[in-house]
Amino acid sequence: MSIALEIKGLTASVGTVEILKGVDLDVPFGEVHALMGPNGSGKSTLCHVLTGKSDYEVGGSARLDGTELLGKEVDERAALGLMQAFQYPVEIPGVRLEEFMREVGVARGEDPGAFGEQIAAQAERFGVTDFLRRSINDDLSGGEKKRSEMFQMGVLSPKVAVLDEIDSGLDIDAVRQVAEAVEQLRSPDVGILVITHYSRILGHMAVDKVHVMMQGRIVDSGGAELADELEDGGYDAVRSRLGIEAPKKEAAAPSVRDTLTDLPF
Ligand code: ADP
Ligand code: MG
Repeated sequence: MSIALEIKGLTASVGTVEILKGVDLDVPFGEVHALMGPNGSGKSTLCHVLTGKSDYEVGGSARLDGTELLGKEVDERAALGLMQAFQYPVEIPGVRLEEFMREVGVARGEDPGAFGEQIAAQAERFGVTDFLRRSINDDLSGGEKKRSEMFQMGVLSPKVAVLDEIDSGLDIDAVRQVAEAVEQLRSPDVGILVITHYSRILGHMAVDKVHVMMQGRIVDSGGAELADELEDGGYDAVRSRLGIEAPKKEAAAPSVRDTLTDLPF
């Protein structure tokens, strides 16, 4: 089975602070993997480092379908087939979603007619047809924004899709809908990494593997039973099984700075 995303010994620091301390993670084509971990464990940093945000000093390797991503520009990585759904999707008032997608098609040299049909078909599939004529993410609920992002992935068919905190701030029904949208994205041509803080969304999806990140490392990987353990005993259960000391104080909840770092500019 070929590997969509192959991460080896990935490190990331800001100044003297080491955030990722050697991450190893493989997501094969056709699979959906979940990355879980307490606040501040480095999940979003992993996304930022993969997409090419420039704040970090990075080391190790991250390959997409065999091609090294590290050192490449953000747009080169996107052109190779890496796509990230943001924890906080940006609102772009005045730019209609359909218009935006058509422009992306033009930039990619797609046939406008066929691409337009693809947009309509995927919008139907992800239940976002009504949003096509509206400004991007403007006045959409949290769950609708996530569906809109997954629709964009459906149209653009990335090789690797990374979805950061796809369930935060969503109500129960929206969580289920977003989980279903992830399942619709699943195909033999994409490896999907779903990042989540809570295991509840995994109850609605058939994830192939669950990875747990703590303090900048993947400390455990397993099947859905790992998510069940987290559901029952929280991160403390995993810590005590693995003999990992709990941090002195829990990392603070995501700050405004975290929100800002999720913006793509
Ligand atoms: P998670 O997404 O798992 O909650 P993050 O990747 O957002 O965790 O953060 C991991 C740690 O790295 C946190 O302690 C956070 O404050 C820190 N961090 C993230 N980005 C930066 C940055 N640009 N500068 C300094 N510290 C950062
Ligand atoms: Mg995060």
